[in-house]
Parts: sequence; C-alpha cells; structure tokens
Amino acid sequence: MKKHLLIVLMTTIVCGCSKTAEQPATPQQVPLAQLPSADPQAILAHTRVLSSDEYEGRGPGTKGEELTVRYLVDQFKMLGLKPGNADGTYIQKVPLVGITPAPAPLVFQKGSQRRTLKWKDDVVAWTKHVADSATLDRSDLVFVGYGIVAPEYNWDDYKGLDVKGKTLVMLVNDPPVPDDPKAFGGKAMTYYGRWTYKYEIAMQKGAAGALVVHETEPAGYPFEVVQAKTTEQFDLVTPDKNMGRVNIEGWITLDRAKELMRAAGQDFDTLKKQAATRDFKPVPLGVTASMTIHNKLRTIDSQNVVAKVEGSDPTLKDEYVVYTAHWDHLGVGPEVNGDRIYNGAADNAIGVAGLLELARAFTSVMPPPKRSILFVSVTAEEQGLLGSQYYSVTPIYPLAKTLANVNMDGLNVHGRTKDLTLIGYGASDLDDYAREATAEQGRTIRPDPETEKGFYYRSDHFNFAKQGVPALDPDQGIEFIGKPADYGQKVRDDYTEHDYHKPTDVIKPDWDLSGAVEDLKVFFAVGYRVAQADTYPDWKAGNEFKATRDAMLKNSEQRK
Ligand SMILES: [Zn+2]
Repeated sequence: MKKHLLIVLMTTIVCGCSKTAEQPATPQQVPLAQLPSADPQAILAHTRVLSSDEYEGRGPGTKGEELTVRYLVDQFKMLGLKPGNADGTYIQKVPLVGITPAPAPLVFQKGSQRRTLKWKDDVVAWTKHVADSATLDRSDLVFVGYGIVAPEYNWDDYKGLDVKGKTLVMLVNDPPVPDDPKAFGGKAMTYYGRWTYKYEIAMQKGAAGALVVHETEPAGYPFEVVQAKTTEQFDLVTPDKNMGRVNIEGWITLDRAKELMRAAGQDFDTLKKQAATRDFKPVPLGVTASMTIHNKLRTIDSQNVVAKVEGSDPTLKDEYVVYTAHWDHLGVGPEVNGDRIYNGAADNAIGVAGLLELARAFTSVMPPPKRSILFVSVTAEEQGLLGSQYYSVTPIYPLAKTLANVNMDGLNVHGRTKDLTLIGYGASDLDDYAREATAEQGRTIRPDPETEKGFYYRSDHFNFAKQGVPALDPDQGIEFIGKPADYGQKVRDDYTEHDYHKPTDVIKPDWDLSGAVEDLKVFFAVGYRVAQADTYPDWKAGNEFKATRDAMLKNSEQRK
C-alpha cells in the first residue's frame, strides 16, 4: 500500500483537474462482464508465499530477493509468459548504490562574517555522486524562488541568469500565483513542486549545489522527515556515476533561511512574495556556501522481473502496455514486539500477486491482445522508486511505443466498494478508460482527495509519467458495501497506525478479496482496451507531462 497513507515519520519519503465535458467512448469491443477475472484464492496463495518469514521481508540484495525473483520467474514461466527482456531472460539487472554521508557543517560566508549551520539540526545534505566525497567551495548563493521552468505556465524563474557553479536556494512546492489561481494546478501540487524536481533543474542549469528551504505546510511534512535522510540512502548507479548531478543537494530549515536572507540584506517574506509572480528575477545573495561531505558506499545488484504476453497483431505487437508492482519491501529491520521480519503482505506482496493474476488473465482473454503486455515487478520502491526509475530511463522497449503504465501498490483487502480512487484523476485518457470500466460495474471514481500533497509523484507509475508515458495510479475505494460510512477511513487509519512499514504487515484472518477482484478487473480492462485501441491514450491538455510525450512521439515519427 502507498506511502501516502502515512501521516508523519518514516524512514524514506520519496515517497488533477476536474472532469469537463463528455469524453469520447473508449474501445469496448468486449464488455467488462466477459473479461476474465482474477482468482482471490490464487492472490492469497501468492501473497502467502511472498510475505512468509522465509522470504525475510524481500529486502533488495538479500536472500529474500533471491527467493522472490526465483518465485516470480517460475510463476511467469508456468503461466506461459515469454521472457520480458529482449536478451531472452526474465531479468533486468538494476545496479544500486547505498550512500551514507558523514555529518558535516555547512558554512555561509559574507566577507569576514561566517555562519555555521549544524548538521541535521539546521541542514540535511547529501551527494548523489558515487564518490568518496563531494564539495562546495565558496560557491555563490543565488535565491531562485521556486526554481521552476514551466513553459506551459509561461514561467521561468531564471530569466537567463547563468547559475553554473553556483548554489541555488529554492522554495519548496509550486507557487500559489495570486493573479492566476489556476497556474500550477491551483491547490494541487504539480511535479514542479516536488523536491526531486528542484535538484533535477539545478543539475540541468549546471549549478554546483541546491538547497531547498523547508517549510512544513507546503512540503507536506515536518523537518523530522527530512532528517531521516541522514542515514544510508539508495540510488541508481548511472554510467557517469551520477557525476552529472550537482555536487551537494540538501535542505535547510526555514529559520536558517531567514537568517541567510537577513545577512544578505534581504527579507525572506518579501522575496517569497516576489517569487510567486512571473516577474520574479533571481537574487544573488552575496554570500558563499562551503561544505564537504564524505561518503560510505555500498553497491548492490538488484533485479526487476519482466515477463511478456506477446501481442497477436504482427505490427502492433511491437507496442506495449506495461503493468508494474514492486516486489521489494523493507527486509529485516529493527525489532518490534519480538519480530524483526517486515513481511510486507499489503505492501506489496499482494500487488505482485495481483500482477501474476493479471498475467494469467491476459493468457486466456479472447480475442487475445493485439499489442504486447509487459509485466514488470520492480525492485527498490521503498528506497525511492529506483527499480521503476531504472526501467523508465533504460527501457527494454521504446517508451514512444509504450502506450500506458498501470501500477499496483497494495490492493483492497476489506471487501467490495462502490468506488475506486484514482490519484491525479484527470491527468490522462487512462482515467476515462478506468471510469468507463468502473461504470460497467455500477461503481464510480473517487478523485484523490488531497491533491495538494502530490501523491501522484510518489509511486512507481510516476517514473513512467515523468518520461512522458501516460500512467494510471489507482488506489482502493472508501465506500464499502454493507459497511458503515466511516468504515473505509477507519481501516485505512488502522493500517497506517498499526501495520504500515511494520513487522505486523502480514495477511490478516479477516481479509476479504472480493473488492480487489473487482478492482483488478478494471485494471485489466484498462490495459486490454488500450492494447486493442486505434489510438494512443494521451495526457490531458495542460498536464505537465504532455510536452514530453508530444516531443517523444514526434521524434519517433520522424525516425520512421
Ligand atoms: Zn512501502
């Protein structure tokens, strides 16, 4: 189940728009009722194996990974699926590195004045460089507002300023623009608001460092959550060993940011106000930043498991619909009530079980899918969506020919619901496919109720979205049939409080998979109908990933 069910602290935080006019009907050659169903007993059986103590909580790089990968490969083979990797195997290797930074101070200097920020109390920083150390050496600080370049909102915080070698100070979230309340999705968070975006744009601009100012409300969580990042953090090992990233990325507290602005002869609140306008220009602060971070490094070779149902149409079989579900969980960790195995039954053994059942359904559906269906059980979601990131930046099949991603992170285990939640509802045509399928079941779509928290950017499907591939992020419904109105919220809260990322996330005797089976049928219908459709699903106008998709499709068209 998803990270967003969590309210406050956890070890890893990495982890819309409304419906307008009638949409054109999506292809429905086969009515929903005639599509194959998932078998609840099979889901339970797979979940039981994957979440057993023997699998040791499925930590990447452990015996738990070995067993999990073997189980998945065996199951896919038994179902008659083809190897999903073009090299003839069911495996995509995912090179990971664990980086533990040693505590270090950050020094701001203006002339002879120095201010030292204390590690963890005032500053949390790291380097993504796969190297023993990284340094900022009297790098000039520049306040760049929200640090955003967003052509679809006619927004550029840099205004042509060269920030090469400089250290950017940025605000978290996206700007609430007073004279244009619809910009950046209104109260919903766009990707420009996520802290990961801030470091990516800093890299594109050739900056030496990037410091995000932490503010609890716009961030969506307290500084304690940021402080958890002072422990070992995992990342992908790219061919350049991540040396293209800025030297040092990090966060500073709001108090230290205000102090920095004062030292620079500026006022934080005034700057923040200016930053919410299109006229904002970056402000060189006349202060430098110095810091050296030493790392402890550890590499792990992990694996995505990939299997394929080949399309039946000779031309369209080179086009893909990709289903994902992360197999990893937290492994063996700190003891809670005498238990150290984090079984991760709901998170996400059951999602993987659902993936296997969808795979089985695709082998029996008539007519068979025209396009190919790829099943990718990804690794290292819990370390920051790394397995899915690896697939999306090193895809086995071209993303321009990948029509859609449907991701499963948890399934409903509490019985049938009248609704299905879609995070980021209205992002793409896939939402219409999902809405029509739920309507055939007499059910409705419930849009994500907390769009301001940016949940759409926190699970594996997001890595596909970011590269431009339309991606569906379903979550369980909340209106349970035959249950009191508050039942849905109650079971969510109960899970969050007692089982989320705890050794007690195991199969419960009262699990009822009748709702999961209905949800899975919707996920099946979305993928199947996309696989049969005459047109590619697209992002809705104004969506921040549409430009990437358009450019990708245009390029691939030109190469023909
Ligand atoms: Zn999790």
